[in-house]
Amino acid sequence: MSEYKTGTKCVQAGYTPGNGQPRQIPIIQSTTFRYETGEDMGKLFDLEASGYFYSRLQNPTNDMVAAKIAQLEGGAAAMLTSSGQAANFMALFNICECGSHIVSSSSIYGGTFNLISVTMAKMGVKVTFVSPDCTEEELEEAFQDNTRAVFGESIANPALTVLDIEKFARAAHRHGVPLVVDNTFPTPVNCRPIEWGADIVTHSTTKYMDGHGAAIGGAIVDGGRFDWMAHADKFPGLCTPDESYHGVTYAERFGREGAFITKCTSQLMRDLGCVQAPQNAFYLNLGLESLHVRMPRHVENGQAAAEFLAEHPKVSYVNYPGLPSDRYYEPARKYMPRGGCGVVSFELKGGRRAAETFMTRLKLAAIETHVADARTCCLNPASTTHRQMTEQQLLEAGVPAGLVRMSCGLEDKEDLIADLAQALEAI
Ligand SMILES: *Cc1c(COP(=O)(O)O)cnc(C)c1O
Repeated sequence: MSEYKTGTKCVQAGYTPGNGQPRQIPIIQSTTFRYETGEDMGKLFDLEASGYFYSRLQNPTNDMVAAKIAQLEGGAAAMLTSSGQAANFMALFNICECGSHIVSSSSIYGGTFNLISVTMAKMGVKVTFVSPDCTEEELEEAFQDNTRAVFGESIANPALTVLDIEKFARAAHRHGVPLVVDNTFPTPVNCRPIEWGADIVTHSTTKYMDGHGAAIGGAIVDGGRFDWMAHADKFPGLCTPDESYHGVTYAERFGREGAFITKCTSQLMRDLGCVQAPQNAFYLNLGLESLHVRMPRHVENGQAAAEFLAEHPKVSYVNYPGLPSDRYYEPARKYMPRGGCGVVSFELKGGRRAAETFMTRLKLAAIETHVADARTCCLNPASTTHRQMTEQQLLEAGVPAGLVRMSCGLEDKEDLIADLAQALEAI
């Protein structure tokens, strides 16, 4: 499949039915799998043979969908998780432990900010946040001897900053650690971070990949290029024997291409159990089949809404990387030349109150804690997803109190703009 273009992979990668087999991927709704002998199964437990034994670790439906996502991202291996939160946590915790440190862009999703700065801190993992616009020198200063990963979002939710992936990858690699990029917003249809030097890519598949607001899910993709053994002192979990798996050393046994996902599956998924239900993987795959057709429409609607809002007297500014006036127009053109996504954010003159009035008056756009599905929706992040942040943290994350995040769906853009116009009128 790797020789095909993205659209073809969206439709067909991950599963090729044999003669007389179901055309659509089968939902293997089974917790467990049968073996003839205990010895057969023992080999699976020892990771000496590959196969299924318990759906907490691996399930064929999930694996087919993960394989499709791996191919879309140009990665070597992938796994599904129960949510985007689980994907980011497991991707980072697979290489960090108590005493480790992460360098992260400050412009990230509120849930991930909380995960890294509060919950992982309780586990003894520290973080230094850097502005995505920092200079190479500033980025350099954020590193410590115990830094184990660099993290950022290709397009940040909700600030819509575009990560300079090459800059972050260079810094990470100078320090012998991988770059982890959350690529939820552009999806591999519009941006493939691994091609720009990222090592691990994560997704909240809940968003555009599913695309219909049907199922929470996540994915982790390994580019398969990071040389763990060359930095063995930093990554004992990958480069020294895992006693909980009969002494297997993942980086030796599975090499660059397999070590990360194998460890994450057989150790972290085994112990944490944040699995995606096969039924949800099936819904996710339905979404993936049309991802390449839907993304251009989301971009078209986002662009139209952004252009309309940018001209409106009641709007103080618009963030949308597709606007030539946007701070991230150039990096967006470089990293995602076909456009980014359908999410637009803007600040209304009149702050939080104006945002409230505007959102209540919208007819097509529902108020939802969600983005990136077929139906247009909107949200005031400061009073919802980001409400745990202080005013200062909100500013650093690029989310002032009067900001509205609007996710343009797949409706007709003329109708969306008429809706925006009448709601702005009401302020
Ligand atoms: C939504 C989102 C997440 C969290 O994903 P869930 O599936 O809601 O757990 C992580 N990163 C980004 C960029 C998101 O938009």
